Amino acid sequence: MDKKTCHCCKGYADGSYVLPPLPYEADALEPLLDVRTVNTHHDRHHAAYVAGANAAAETLRKVAGNVYDEAVASSAMRKLAFNLGGHILHCLYWDSISPEKQDGPTGALADAIQADFGSYDGFLRVFRGVAMGVQGSGWAVLGRERLSKRLTVLGIEKHQDILLPGFKPLLACDVWEHAYYLRYLNNRAGYVDAFLRQANWAAALKKLERHTHEQAR
Ligand code: MN
Repeated sequence: MDKKTCHCCKGYADGSYVLPPLPYEADALEPLLDVRTVNTHHDRHHAAYVAGANAAAETLRKVAGNVYDEAVASSAMRKLAFNLGGHILHCLYWDSISPEKQDGPTGALADAIQADFGSYDGFLRVFRGVAMGVQGSGWAVLGRERLSKRLTVLGIEKHQDILLPGFKPLLACDVWEHAYYLRYLNNRAGYVDAFLRQANWAAALKKLERHTHEQAR
């Protein structure tokens, strides 16, 4: 994985949104996730967001081409925000879990977590608190806020509510029930703790380095 083509950049090709294959075998994420959850999540849920994003984008092109009335644009835009938000976040999610145990954040990411949360434990408190507070279905996402350049955690609801313009995501935990219910039932906290133990900090560091490089240009 080079710095320009991480797994989560592979969701668009030849003019359409596409479903990238999982970056590992579906049974590779034990003990965090079982193979049935991973396959259903990727092959059905994630795939449906890809299809929905393509359909909404096509509807908007037809509005632009005067095939559909312009009044259709607003509802198509909402469908695009929901489905494309879902597609982007799921690409990020698969890249946020590591099949191999990692020791936690390293390098510039460890330094930034120390600076912006006081400690790794401070980050864990904020991330868990945000993840548990997502109302209904949504996401906990660690990323960098564009003005202060500091790390923060967003609790995105559905796939598109509660966002910051220019926020650069590094690590995303899906807290929709479809992500964890087969194994954890209603124990979201247990799932989030397990996710954090298996987080792909190496991939998150690469994203941070890429964002820092882009910002410096
Ligand atoms: Mn999901």
